[in-house]
Amino acid sequence: MPVRKTVREEILEFSPYVPGLSIDEIKQKYGLASVIKMASNENPLGAPPFAQKAIKAKAGLAFRYPQSGNPRLIDALSKAHGVERERLAAGNGSDEIIDLILRVKARPARDNIVAFRPCFSIYALQSKLCGLGLRQVPLRPDFSFDLDALAAACDENTAVVFLTNPDNPSGFALKADAVLALARRLPPRALLVVDEAYIEFAEPYEDYAVLPRLAEADNLAVLRTFSKLYGLAGLRLGFGAMPAWLADYLNRVKLPFSVNLLAEEAGIAALEDVHFKQKTLETVNAGRAVLESGLTALGFTVFPSQANFLMFKPTIDAGELFTRLLARGIIIRPLKSYGLPEYLRVSVGAPEENQAFLKAAREIQVALG
Ligand code: PMP
Repeated sequence: MPVRKTVREEILEFSPYVPGLSIDEIKQKYGLASVIKMASNENPLGAPPFAQKAIKAKAGLAFRYPQSGNPRLIDALSKAHGVERERLAAGNGSDEIIDLILRVKARPARDNIVAFRPCFSIYALQSKLCGLGLRQVPLRPDFSFDLDALAAACDENTAVVFLTNPDNPSGFALKADAVLALARRLPPRALLVVDEAYIEFAEPYEDYAVLPRLAEADNLAVLRTFSKLYGLAGLRLGFGAMPAWLADYLNRVKLPFSVNLLAEEAGIAALEDVHFKQKTLETVNAGRAVLESGLTALGFTVFPSQANFLMFKPTIDAGELFTRLLARGIIIRPLKSYGLPEYLRVSVGAPEENQAFLKAAREIQVALG
């Protein structure tokens, strides 16, 4: 008897997450010796020296299971961010926390999820996987947030409202006061999940971050990641801060060892690497300005960004520019999967990477002109 090919209906036409292209893929495809990747908003300085040291020091412990619940990491996060331990849940990237919140909070086939269009695709993918309807509210033409429209899309069955701040892919950011005001006007069941993956790059940080103000709303969860400022995307580490009752449920249902032992050690070390964080912020802030003025000088429309990337609309065909950059060994992010085929996103790189990208873009523009 053949195994019956039956799956849940939501899964039938599921398309996977579209990641930025990998360096090895492009090296192979174009026969290149070196490739610059400015596609996934990773840290331009690499992994923090403190974390590298911790990983090497603990490599021999890889045969052990990590301590369930990662209490040392939770402790370090609690101290670093001034958030009570009971409010924290660590995950295999903030992706895992997004998934857990949806699974814990929303009732399949009954509740709805609200987010802007476009939004980070994991919100839509995991909602679908959980059998939840996603209501998407268009961003304004300048990619700013229409909060009235977002609130109006909610009803008594809205379980989660996602807000990415600063936003991906535009880099637009909302002040913390406005985020908290939004939380206060949502219907009673709705949890506002503020995804602060890029918040450390917003200036001034204090005006934008809601993590330090978590206690001001009881329907607020904040997501943070170690993949950007902390330079640990490959280890998969993120966390959520939320009301204690919700964190408790997340920690009950979560697979016990999803944060691995080396990720935990590296995360703790990265939190202490103040010099690396400072250098990253300086590199990103300076690089963002260089890219912004360089792309503007080419006549491209560049959107103001508070993150470690810039979204832009070139004067030439976006797909063509993307492909020609690839052939030269420079990977950036096409935004077709975000429903924005005429736009591109470039992550802030190291100074020489930014220059190489701008030079290549200029040459391609001339060649196509
Ligand atoms: N949220 C946003 C807005 C992101 O852009 C990303 C990374 N692409 C994530 C969450 C996921 O981060 P992590 O690597 O921690 O899963």
